[in-house]
Amino acid sequence: MAVFSAPHPRFRIYTRLGSYTSLLTDLLFNRITKGADVEKLEKAIAEQFRVSHVVAVPMARVGIYLALKHLIKPGQGVIMSPYTIADVVNMVILAGGVPVFCDIEQKSCNIDPDKIEELIDAKTGAVLVTHLHGIGAATGEILQICRSRNLALVEDTSQSFGGYQNGKRLGTIGEAGIYSFGMYKNINSWYGGAVVSENKVLIDKIKGELNQYNYQSGYFIFKRMFKGLITDFLTHPLVFQPLTYWLFRYGFLHNIKWINKRI
Ligand SMILES: *Cc1c(COP(=O)(O)O)cnc(C)c1O
Repeated sequence: MAVFSAPHPRFRIYTRLGSYTSLLTDLLFNRITKGADVEKLEKAIAEQFRVSHVVAVPMARVGIYLALKHLIKPGQGVIMSPYTIADVVNMVILAGGVPVFCDIEQKSCNIDPDKIEELIDAKTGAVLVTHLHGIGAATGEILQICRSRNLALVEDTSQSFGGYQNGKRLGTIGEAGIYSFGMYKNINSWYGGAVVSENKVLIDKIKGELNQYNYQSGYFIFKRMFKGLITDFLTHPLVFQPLTYWLFRYGFLHNIKWINKRI
C-alpha cells in the first residue's frame, strides 16, 4: 500500500554537505575569485573529454553568447531549436545573429536534421543544437550538413554534461560546445559553465572578453547558495512527498500568491 500519493519531485539539486562548507569557507576568507580551482576544472575537462581547449564561463548562456559572437558575422542566421530556454534566443540576438527556428524530432525533442537543409540560405552562419534532457541531437548528420555548407556547428550541452555519442563527448563534436554548471544541471556549482573547442583562436577571444568582466559579489553568490539549500531541502523526496507537494497543491487550488510564486 502506498503511504503517500504525492508524485516525485521534478528537481533534485545534487549538492553534498562539502559543497556548502567549501563555498562558505571561500566566502568567509574572501577567496572565491582567487586560487587555481578554475584552472584545475578546465584541465580536468580537457583531459577527460579529450578536447584541446576549455574556458570556464560564469554561466552557459554567457558561453553561448561569446562563442556565437566570434563564430558568425552580424546579421547571419543561426538555425536553432525552439525548444530551449528563452535566454538562449536572447544570446543569439545579442551575438548579432538572427534566430531561425527549426522543427524538432518527436523521438528526442532535439532539432530534426531533415528540416535543417531547407532553412539554409546565403545568410546562414551557424547551426545551434540543444542536447536536451541528456539525449544527444543527431550530430552525425548535422555535422555533415554543416561541413558541406561551411557552417559552424555549436552544441548547447547545458543539459547533457558527460553524455557520449559515437565515442565522443557531447559538446566536443562541433566547432564549440557549451556546458552549464547552474543549479539545476548535471553538476551544480550554483553558477558556472564552460566552453570547449579545438579552435584555439576562438577560446582565446572568449578569454579576452571574460577578462573585461567584473566578478559577482560574494553576497550575490551567497544568496544563490541559500536559495539552492532551500530548494534542495524542499525537493528531497522525504520532504517533498509529505510536505512540499501538498503545500504547492494547496497554494494552487486556493490561488495563494506567496506560495505560487515559489513553484
Ligand atoms: C540551463 C540551460 C541553459 C543556460 O545555462 P546557464 O548556465 O543557466 O546560463 C542554456 N541552455 C539550456 C538548454 C539549458 O537548459
